[in-house]
Amino acid sequence: MTVRPGSTIGILGGGQLGKMLVMKAAQMGYKTHVFVPQDNSPASQVATLTTVADYEDRAALQSFAEAVDVVTLEFENIPVSALEALAEHVPVHPAPQVLYIAQHRGREKAFLSEHGFPLAPFKPIDTEADLAIAVQEIGTPAILKTAGFGYDGKGQRRVSSLAEAEAAFTELESQPCVLEAFIEFEREVSVVAARNEAGELVAYAPIENDHENHILFLSSVPAELSDALAKRAVQVTKDVLNALNLVGVMCAEFFVTTSGELILNELAPRPHNSGHLTIEACAVSQFEQQLRAVCALPLGSTDYLHAAALVNLLGDVWADDEPDWAKVLELEKVSLHLYGKAEARLGRKMGHLTVIGEDGARAKEKALHVRKLLG
Ligand code: AMP
Repeated sequence: MTVRPGSTIGILGGGQLGKMLVMKAAQMGYKTHVFVPQDNSPASQVATLTTVADYEDRAALQSFAEAVDVVTLEFENIPVSALEALAEHVPVHPAPQVLYIAQHRGREKAFLSEHGFPLAPFKPIDTEADLAIAVQEIGTPAILKTAGFGYDGKGQRRVSSLAEAEAAFTELESQPCVLEAFIEFEREVSVVAARNEAGELVAYAPIENDHENHILFLSSVPAELSDALAKRAVQVTKDVLNALNLVGVMCAEFFVTTSGELILNELAPRPHNSGHLTIEACAVSQFEQQLRAVCALPLGSTDYLHAAALVNLLGDVWADDEPDWAKVLELEKVSLHLYGKAEARLGRKMGHLTVIGEDGARAKEKALHVRKLLG
């Protein structure tokens, strides 16, 4: 059923994705209610209402469910039991089952491999004893990743031998892990797509991503990719959304190997950092697509109206002092996004800058220049 403007969108999680979603919801005439464990989160600075409570707090979840018309999320590591409790009272998109799969690498990879999607060779690791066979089958170098609650390269180690894999497993506190083959990739791309309950599906063309220390640093469109690969990445992403029966927005991250193959790295069942550039580059952003999808409205155009690039602003930029924003804002076609986080810690995503360029290469170059200006 359509959730009409004037209704209240419930949002689980209060980070920058939630903040940008709330801002778009306000533009479209919706009220928002954020549910987040921490005080003064970026999203709650702009939301109509906030509940500060633990995701396991049943009474708080019950009152939240009664106060909203639909629930969506901006963070995938919400306990599935919380989503299930909410789903008894109010529509929850994406569904708890999608989160159950996407918040655990082992389950996600098993699901994708069962459905025939292209993955790097992998093996689930539950105990140290599993490592010997896995290393033998997969070979080295390989990457050991914790199965749950990893992001931005947290909880992963590159290993070159069984001994290194065992040491890494101990370092990762012997948590359930996945060992996967190290992929020699030429580039990384992501595809952001949206799907509504009627099964309507739209996808933005691939975004090219560059990482530094496993954290996304630079994203740009159009990606430098053959038409055939770009089409295939979009099709694979759409197939994943359909296979998951996902309602909302999802991002698929891919490696493009040196031999021109496409390999799925991971899924995010929500808007994605790389997709922030759709705010300036498209008529309908990934946040508007999420709102339209979860409110059972028609989805919007995914065309890029401009070539664009974004650079993330990590806490490192604040090392000396507040950056001199005037230096970058005097340039043409640069948009500044600051998330309103109080403390600028190293590696923490504090904001981003999006620049519009004549083509992808020039947008990228301009974004790097802008980033350099900030020191
Ligand atoms: P993830 O947390 O899985 O998204 O990994 C973060 C980043 O680490 C990726 O974007 C890649 O740059 C790198 N990485 C992850 N897995 C692999 C792999 N199997 N082979 C090579 N690089 C990887």
